[in-house]
Amino acid sequence: ANEVRSAAITEVLNRSAAPTAEIRPLSEIWATDVFNLDKMEEALSKNAFKAVKKTVKTGEPLDPATADIVAAAMKDWAMSKGAKFFSHVFYPLTNITAEKHDGFIITNADGNAITEFTGSLLIKGEPDGSSFPNGSLRMTNAARGYTAWDPTSPAYIMHTANGATLMIPSVFMSWTGESLDKKIPLLRSNAAMDAAARRVLELMGETEIAPLNASCGPEQEYFLIDQHLATQRPDLLLAGRTLFGAPPAKGQEFDDHYFGAIPERVQVYMQAVEEKLYRLGIPAKTHHNEVAPGQFEIAPYHETANIAADHQQLIMTVLKATAAEHGFLCLLHEKPFAGLNGSGKHVNWSVGNETQGNLLDPGTSPEQNLNFLLFCGAVIRGVHKFGPLLRAVIATASNDHRLGANEAPPAILSVYLGDQLEAVFEDIKNGCVNPSADGGEMDLGLSQILNFKRDPGDRNRTSPFAFTGNRFEFRAVGSSQSITGPLTAMNTMLADSLHWIADKLEVELKAGKTHAAAVADVLKELMELHGNAVFGGDGYSSEWHEAAVAERGLRNLPTSADALPVFTEPEVVELFEKSGVLSAVELNSRYEVYSEQYINSIAVEAKLVIDLAKTVIYPAALKYASELATTISAAQALDASFDAGQVKVIAENANGLLETVAQLSTELARHDFADTAAHMKHCATVIRPLMEAARVYVDTLETEVDDAAWPLPKYRELLFIK
Ligand code: ADP
Ligand code: MG
Repeated sequence: ANEVRSAAITEVLNRSAAPTAEIRPLSEIWATDVFNLDKMEEALSKNAFKAVKKTVKTGEPLDPATADIVAAAMKDWAMSKGAKFFSHVFYPLTNITAEKHDGFIITNADGNAITEFTGSLLIKGEPDGSSFPNGSLRMTNAARGYTAWDPTSPAYIMHTANGATLMIPSVFMSWTGESLDKKIPLLRSNAAMDAAARRVLELMGETEIAPLNASCGPEQEYFLIDQHLATQRPDLLLAGRTLFGAPPAKGQEFDDHYFGAIPERVQVYMQAVEEKLYRLGIPAKTHHNEVAPGQFEIAPYHETANIAADHQQLIMTVLKATAAEHGFLCLLHEKPFAGLNGSGKHVNWSVGNETQGNLLDPGTSPEQNLNFLLFCGAVIRGVHKFGPLLRAVIATASNDHRLGANEAPPAILSVYLGDQLEAVFEDIKNGCVNPSADGGEMDLGLSQILNFKRDPGDRNRTSPFAFTGNRFEFRAVGSSQSITGPLTAMNTMLADSLHWIADKLEVELKAGKTHAAAVADVLKELMELHGNAVFGGDGYSSEWHEAAVAERGLRNLPTSADALPVFTEPEVVELFEKSGVLSAVELNSRYEVYSEQYINSIAVEAKLVIDLAKTVIYPAALKYASELATTISAAQALDASFDAGQVKVIAENANGLLETVAQLSTELARHDFADTAAHMKHCATVIRPLMEAARVYVDTLETEVDDAAWPLPKYRELLFIK
C-alpha cells in the first residue's frame, strides 16, 4: 500500500480500545430520557394529567392553561437532566431531521438568569422556512414556516459531551397551513385509513371499534468502515458510496459473513447504540451481520407508525454518531460498494386496534378470517393499482443502484402471499369458495386459513412486497430513506381500497347476502381486477421482468427518472386529494423537491468523479507509468525481451479516463431541458452511464498500477480491516 494508506492501516491497528460504559440493567435505563406518560403522571396534577393523556392518545389540542402546566413540568424534568436548551424536531422533505435550538434562559430586571418555557413555546415554534426544500409551496411573501408539537410522539433528551437538549417532535408547515414535512401526511394517512377501516368493520357487523393505527417495525441495514480508511476516500465522505474500486479477490462468495460471529469491535459498537436507544425508549430488538462483509442490521420491535417513523430517524442519527465515537464511519447508503449486496430498510407494516386486533393476522376464528381476507385483499388491490406510486416513494438516486440488481427486489411492484394464502385467493377468484348452506362460513377458504402457519417457511426474499404471517414487508425501501413516505403511501392506498370494498359490501349486504357470501363476491371481483399483482415466483429472474410487463400489465420503472413523475399522474393526485392526505399542490411540491434531490445528488457524484479522476487517479497512473517506462527501458538495455505492454495498457486507460470525464463535464454543464422530467432522464441515461464508463477505466487502472502507488484505500482494506 502507498504511504497514506499504510499510515491509515497502522492507525487502525494501533487504535485505542473502544470507550466502555458501566453496564446497567435494562430496567434502570429504559426510557430514562423520555418525557412519557409515566413521567407526566408523576409531575402533573390529576386533572392536568387527564387532559394531556387525552391529547397524547388522540392528538387533540390542549387548552392553553393546561399547555402551560405541561410545558413547566416538561422544562423542570428536562432541566433536572441537565438540559438548558429545547428544540422542536421536525422532518422536512429531506431524509434527515431538522432542529432549531432555543435556551430556556431569560434575564429578569436585576440581570439574573431565570428560565421560561410556556405552553405557547411548547406548542409552536418558528424556524425560518426558507432554508428547507418546499417545492413551489412557499411563496416569497410567506417565507415563514412554523413547527407545532406532535403530542402523540413523546419529547426526549439528546445528550452531548457538554450538555443536553430537550427535543420536541413536531410537524412543520407553511404559514398558510400546507405541509412542508413528512410527518403531517403520515398522520393524515393514518386518519384516512382509520375512517375507511371503520367503515368496513362496521359493515362486517363489528360494534365496538377502537381507533385504528398502522404499526411498523423497520429493519435497518448499514455498513461499518474504519474511520481512518474511510477518511482517505473523498467519495465515501461526500457521496456516502465508493465511486471507484476494483472488486477484491474475496467478496461475499463464501457467504461467511451472514449471521456469522459478530466481530468484537462491532459488537461493542452495537451495544453502545442500543444503550442509547433504550434510554430514548426505542425498543431495539435484533442485531446481526448481513450478507456483505462489513454489513450489519438493526431492528426495533414494532410500534405505532408515527412513533416508529420518529424512532427510525433517531436510530439513523444514533448509528452515525456512535460510529464516530467508536472510530467507524457508518454508511446508510443503499449501494456503497459495487458488486456487493446493497442495504435496504424492510418496512414491516400492519394495521389494527385494541378491539379487533391486528387485521392482517389470520387469527383463529371465522369472523377474524373474513376481516383478515378483506384487509389482505385491500392490500392486493392497493399494490396493483398503486404499484407505481410505491415505486415512486422509494425513488432516490441511491436506491436506484440497488433495485433490480440481482440481490435486491425488482423495481416492478408485485405482492407475495406465500403458497397457502395465494391458493386461498386463487380459489376465491375462481369462485371455488362457497358459503355453507346455513349462511355461515366459507368452507374451503376458512379451513385453509385457519391452519395458516404464522411464519411460513416458504419466505420469498425476491419479492418487493411480501406477506410475512401477520404483516406485509415492503422490502424495496432504501436504507437511507425516511420510512414516512412508504408508510403514508401504504396507509393511503389501503384507505382507498377499503372504501372500494365498503362500497361493494354495502350493495351486496343490502341485497340480503350473508357476510361470508358478500365477502366472497367482493373479493372475487377484486381478484379478477387486481390479482395480477400477486406473484410467488423468483422476482430477480429476467423471465419475470418480461412477463410482469408483457403478460401481467405491471409497470417496470427502473430509475427514479421513470418513477418520480408518477407523483403527477391523475390517479395518484386523485388518491391523495380524495383521502385528504396531500392536496394537489402539496403533492406536486414533493415531486419537485424529490426530482431536484435526484438531479443534485447525481451532479455531486459526477463532479466528484471528474475531480478524483483528474487530480488523484490520472496523476498517480501517469507517475507510475513513467516510472515503469524508465524501469523497463533500463531492463530492456540488459535483456530486450522485457515487455512494455503494461505501460501501453495504463496509457490507454488513463487517456480513456480523461476523455470520458471531459465528456461528463460537457454533459453536466447542460441546462437546456424542457422540464424536470427531461433533466432527470438526462441524468439517468447520459450522466450515469458516463460515470460508469469512467469507473471502468479507473478500476482497470487499479489492477495495473503498483499497489504502493495507488492513492485510494482499496475494497479489501475498507471491507476487511476492522
Ligand atoms: P426478519 O425475519 O424479516 O428479518 P426481523 O425480526 O429482523 O425479521 O424483523 C421483523 C420486524 O417486523 C420487527 O421490527 C418486528 O417487530 C416487526 N413486526 C412484527 N410483527 C409486526 C406487525 N404485526 N406489524 C408491524 N411490524 C411487525
Ligand atoms: Mg424482514
